[in-house]
Amino acid sequence: MSEIGEDLKNNAWIKMNEEEAQGAYLFADNYIDFLNLAKTEREAVEYVRKIALEHGFQPLDQVKEIKAGDKLYMEAKGKICALIIIGQQDLRKGINLVVSHIDTPRLDLKPRPLYEAEGLSMLKTHYYGGIKKYHWLAMPLALHGVIFKKDGTRVDVQLGEDENDLVFTIADLLPHLAKEQMEKKMSEAITGESLNALIGSRPEATGAKDPVKSAVLKMLEQRYGIEEDDFTSAELQFVPAFKARHVGLDRSMVGGFGQDDRICAYTSLRAILDAAIPQRTAMCLFADKEEIGSSGNTGLQSLVVELFVAELMQKAGGADYYTVRKALADSYCLSADVNGAVDPNYLDVFEKMNNSYLGRGVVLTKYTGSRGKYDSNDANPEFLSQIRRLFDDNRVIWQVGELGKVDAGGGGTVAQYVARYGMEVVDCGPALLGMHSPFEVASKADIYMAYKAYNAFFNSFTG
Ligand code: MN
Ligand code: MN
Repeated sequence: MSEIGEDLKNNAWIKMNEEEAQGAYLFADNYIDFLNLAKTEREAVEYVRKIALEHGFQPLDQVKEIKAGDKLYMEAKGKICALIIIGQQDLRKGINLVVSHIDTPRLDLKPRPLYEAEGLSMLKTHYYGGIKKYHWLAMPLALHGVIFKKDGTRVDVQLGEDENDLVFTIADLLPHLAKEQMEKKMSEAITGESLNALIGSRPEATGAKDPVKSAVLKMLEQRYGIEEDDFTSAELQFVPAFKARHVGLDRSMVGGFGQDDRICAYTSLRAILDAAIPQRTAMCLFADKEEIGSSGNTGLQSLVVELFVAELMQKAGGADYYTVRKALADSYCLSADVNGAVDPNYLDVFEKMNNSYLGRGVVLTKYTGSRGKYDSNDANPEFLSQIRRLFDDNRVIWQVGELGKVDAGGGGTVAQYVARYGMEVVDCGPALLGMHSPFEVASKADIYMAYKAYNAFFNSFTG
């Protein structure tokens, strides 16, 4: 047998034994189910809450005091939540935090979305997060979300998931008439205001001014008991109606919507479920709003991490300002988020020595940002040294990753926001192809290695 090449030596499929490879395939089956069940942040919180309660995690507000080994659950606004295992060490000495985000780029409905034009009824959208607008044309869309009526009643909406269910779509312009459009810059060819989805075409014969819209409103009234003004207090999102799938003849990859960052949400969830009673208190946090800059009261620019830790400390005997701040500063964090994998179709934007690859294990991203690391966390090398050791000791296959070539673009994560507390933090998660597209692709080997990385961090990282 001849020597294997350098690249192959770094490949997780080559490094894993057959048992581990089979483990990676099995793990991905359950992950695909999760992707299909949780397409919005609210659905992800519902999934996490259900699994947490089934595994003996207790809502913190039902607990009087806490001790080592206690498993706890915390949640805010139905869009951010955390699982905690109290460690053997004093909580005041800090926690091991893994934080992912459960929001994903998509199309939100506007507060006044419904109209009629040219005999068709349409819904206006406003995109959420960094999308390429052309991705959202000419495909089946499902509508997920909640509506709160004026009297406070909550109505849950999920249309388009069952294969016999109806779907929505934004029709694309026919190529025959796209001569002018095709000559435009890609960023200008499709405007935000043209992302209007079809909701109906059959008019009623009542003499109403907008007979198709009027018919749609009647159906909404029948189905959900809502009127047009109720859209004002709603959170409705268009997501791809198709399901996550195995990709490749070898089924070695997963394709699906929302893997940024539900790939890290699912792997970190499984990692804390499988954790023993750790030395340091383990917290697995699932955050919202990362895709729009971690703003809002469910994003990590809010002080929700501080509140969660303060609430824990209150139950542990006291949460004065200094104690909470000191515990946070002495904490360690893996910011669980994805990186962009080197894409053979677009080699121009990648730097092969420092960018991450599909199938070479979980990625440690020292810094993100753009224009000279602006808006980046830039992890301390002292901490990276400890994490390297942890991963190698626990047979976690890992690689380094920078996002593309210098000045090719850039991006950010929540790392810079948790760093505000003074804790050590580094970005760590799988690499994706087609990130932020409706069908992102991940390697099953990397998914499994992310799980192993987070599990080792919860179980054995002592700082
Ligand atoms: Mn992300
Ligand atoms: Mn993202």
